[in-house]
Amino acid sequence: PIIYVGVTTSSIVAGALKTRSAIEQYLDDYSVDADVICVGSHGLCSLEPVVEVQMPGRTRVAFANVTPERVNSILDGALNGFIQPENVIFQYFSEIHEPWHGIPFRNELPFFKKQNRVLLKNAGIICPDSIAEYIAHGGYSALAKSIRKYTYDDICRIVEESGLRGRGGGAFPTGTKWRKALQVATSDRYLICNADESDPGGFMDRLLIESDPHRIVEGIILSSYAVSASKAIIYIRDRYKITIQRIQNAIEQAYEVGLLGYDILGSGYSLDIEVRKGPGAYVCGEETALIKSLEGKRGMPSIKPPYPAEFGLNGKPTVINNVETLANIPEIISNGPQWFAALGTEGSKGTKIFSINGQASQTCMVELTFGEPLAALLDLAGGVKDGRTFKALHLGGPSGVSVTADELDAPIDFDELPKRGISLGSGGVQVLDNTVCMVDLVKYFMHFIRNESCGKCIPCREGSNRMYQILDNISKRPVSNEGHNTLERFKGVIQLETLAEVMRDTSLCGLGQTAPKPILKALKSFRDEFEEHIFDRK
Ligand code: SF4
Repeated sequence: PIIYVGVTTSSIVAGALKTRSAIEQYLDDYSVDADVICVGSHGLCSLEPVVEVQMPGRTRVAFANVTPERVNSILDGALNGFIQPENVIFQYFSEIHEPWHGIPFRNELPFFKKQNRVLLKNAGIICPDSIAEYIAHGGYSALAKSIRKYTYDDICRIVEESGLRGRGGGAFPTGTKWRKALQVATSDRYLICNADESDPGGFMDRLLIESDPHRIVEGIILSSYAVSASKAIIYIRDRYKITIQRIQNAIEQAYEVGLLGYDILGSGYSLDIEVRKGPGAYVCGEETALIKSLEGKRGMPSIKPPYPAEFGLNGKPTVINNVETLANIPEIISNGPQWFAALGTEGSKGTKIFSINGQASQTCMVELTFGEPLAALLDLAGGVKDGRTFKALHLGGPSGVSVTADELDAPIDFDELPKRGISLGSGGVQVLDNTVCMVDLVKYFMHFIRNESCGKCIPCREGSNRMYQILDNISKRPVSNEGHNTLERFKGVIQLETLAEVMRDTSLCGLGQTAPKPILKALKSFRDEFEEHIFDRK
């Protein structure tokens, strides 16, 4: 038998390591000769710890919420050819193994059927610590296919033709960014993988790396080759221990088999990848602040231009791509730019990964093709938990917006959403129910921005502080003689709108420019809640 245990940051929180120990203890106690293999996440975070059992000749079957206390009864059954369907989530389809009776196949479950898992196709299935498993699932074939056949200019052109746009929130065309770096006359270029994911509630990049790290390594090698970089850096915050461990292990394995280092696969191209740990500042997700942090300076954004693609790390052309953007590259090279360009909409090609939490029925990570309605996200999350009433979907964390029920038909699209006053963000989604106070929510986001503002420019440093104070004042019910009078709070709303405009138009970087977005959208969609606070309506 083989027993697979999903071990990622989210499943460890749910107790996966204790479950794995209980499984090992069981196998020891009953002298069962079975392999225990660690896998990533299917994205079904609410069902973790997930354990899968494969008996010889039978399909692999997955069990949900396997706490240490449940290990004995589940293994007693599964190892003896008897399983209770109520404990099981799915079984894998197999042409050579005998299926279990009465258990749905994975690809028939609505959760998987409604998605288009291109980047997540290995997530939860393969062992992230095994390069052999990644290769057995088609991994590194894009690299093997292209590195001797294509010039770096060919790969750059293929990505331009695919229409891929950055997934970190900015949606800048990836090929255009690469071309800019290529046009600078130098032999020294860098590629940086921005893995410093830090939106509250966003965990797509972490789970993707933890589930399929070799996909990211392959994407980095191909992208570095495309921009003719000899050094790539993965910038990731220090406290993402499991994520760092997985990616470092993948890099070491790639070196061992000659996919990194000198003369990769006999192509004449050489590349080194280094993991650099960041201290954990939200602003270091901004490209110029990230570069400063790598240079050992305080992570503060600079005025652009010059753009990093022309003048970046150590003054050299530097391409910075987000984890999910890089994960797309092997697929584009393997399947061709036309295949990718046919997925999605006119301006938004491919798929997008989302992490969904908040008051969702199930916390999950999903992947959808661009063009699907926002409602599909709520559907995949199983709606609102405990039968409560839906209020909004918040997209994009502290610089995002809350989308109401009548806006859920909007397509997931970089260009269409802004026309409706919505921004997609990087993929973090919170489901909000009717117990959430929108004034408190935007106050929380502004508190986050106030703390994370680097303080370099006045509109952001002072503006975020003042906006937080106003929101704090509005959020408090008036208490006699405490000074939170109605007129003052009413004036506060007008000040919020004025300050928002100033911050948006005059802040130096995206952090300050986008920080007022949640407030302005809440004032538009949930103005009555601000008035309830101001006029103390119960
Ligand atoms: Fe720093 Fe805010 Fe100015 Fe950006 S907008 S440079 S985070 S103070």
